[in-house]
Amino acid sequence: MTNPDAVATRPAFEWLGPCPLSNTLRLPAEAVRLLALNDVSESTLRTPDVAEWLADPATRVVGGGSNVVFVTPRVPQAVRIDAADWRVTRSGDDWVDLSVEAGLGLDALVRETAARGWFGLEALAEIPGTVGAAPMQNVGAYGTEIADVTRWVEVWDRRERRIECLAPADCEFRYRGSRFKREAGRWMILRVGLRLATRAPGDWPPVGYPGVGEAVGEWSRRTGRAPAAITPGEYAEVITTIRRAKLPDWRSGWPGSAGSFFHNPVVSVETAERLARRWPEMPRFPVADGMKIPAGWLIEAAGLKGHRDGPVGVSSRHALVLEHHGGASGEVFQRFAEFVRRRVREETGIDLAIEPECVTL
Ligand SMILES: Cc1cc2nc3c(=O)[nH]c(=O)nc-3n(C[C@H](O)[C@H](O)[C@H](O)COP(=O)(O)OP(=O)(O)OC[C@H]3O[C@@H](n4cnc5c(N)ncnc54)[C@H](O)[C@@H]3O)c2cc1C
Repeated sequence: MTNPDAVATRPAFEWLGPCPLSNTLRLPAEAVRLLALNDVSESTLRTPDVAEWLADPATRVVGGGSNVVFVTPRVPQAVRIDAADWRVTRSGDDWVDLSVEAGLGLDALVRETAARGWFGLEALAEIPGTVGAAPMQNVGAYGTEIADVTRWVEVWDRRERRIECLAPADCEFRYRGSRFKREAGRWMILRVGLRLATRAPGDWPPVGYPGVGEAVGEWSRRTGRAPAAITPGEYAEVITTIRRAKLPDWRSGWPGSAGSFFHNPVVSVETAERLARRWPEMPRFPVADGMKIPAGWLIEAAGLKGHRDGPVGVSSRHALVLEHHGGASGEVFQRFAEFVRRRVREETGIDLAIEPECVTL
């Protein structure tokens, strides 16, 4: 996936800047000074000016920019991992262990492993961002989370200035969260160890998620093959088709987006019942600590699906997605997000929490 000749000629690290910071919202952003790491070995990270840069709390770790809102267009200090190799470290009768460097695109890894017939990542097809950022919010889709296949996460402890290898239990993975997110600023994720299956699991293919069963059924009718015969690569394509129908293209063009913009709120049973008296059709799902309500549904109930305000708006296909149509500053975008929150609060009494990190430095 990376060109070995290019790797051989690249320096272990480079100082760049000012340089643009790509982000899927396509807001204007640049790093005044950026450290690009082509190598994440201990000797590189211990180089004195590199170690100093990483230890400075003002240095921001940047990835693919698919889960950030650059409210400010200028980031004074940043570090980005460009090291993007992966390799098989061990294998058994029906599994394979991989070590993946943080700079590799998650979607590229999904495609590569699914094409080899390995099971475990295929439901994460078409999610933007890097492998290094994936454990941060425990990326997940269609019933799969990166935590499900993670064996270890190798990190640079910016405070203690040393490499550590954390077992899954130490990562404190939870829904859209982890210890890395909770202790933001302390860890830079260097490599992720994954175990994938080389034989189909017993419940293959996973079709429990709304829309996936129908799409796999449609694939089966079109190809004349049984659903169980679908390969991980073909399953990844099915997921890709579903996602492209409702999400903006994160690779290029307009509108820009950060995917789902708000967390699905969990409210008390009493609150859910109060809302259900007004909206009997409101979807709601019992969870351990109350009732989960889809944030997109609440935005729609507030009358904002498809609402446009100049360069920014709410998607008409998926109300949980806020869009940037070009020409907005980060501040304009943030004001619009606050407007959506306020309208939902006024209409339903529920306070939505923003999922991406807002960079306001
Ligand atoms: C169209 C679209 C669809 C999406 N769909 C999904 C989805 O289905 N499921 C889902 O979970 N997410 C989804 N997302 C969100 C996003 O793809 C993920 O959060 C992704 O993991 C972000 O990766 P990134 O490299 O772009 O991180 P960035 O946006 O660059 O950074 C996100 C955070 O991670 C930190 N970070 C980045 N790299 C590292 C590192 N190596 N070490 C430590 N910290 C780091 C940054 O400092 C920042 O706090 C979607 C986004 C978009 C735009």
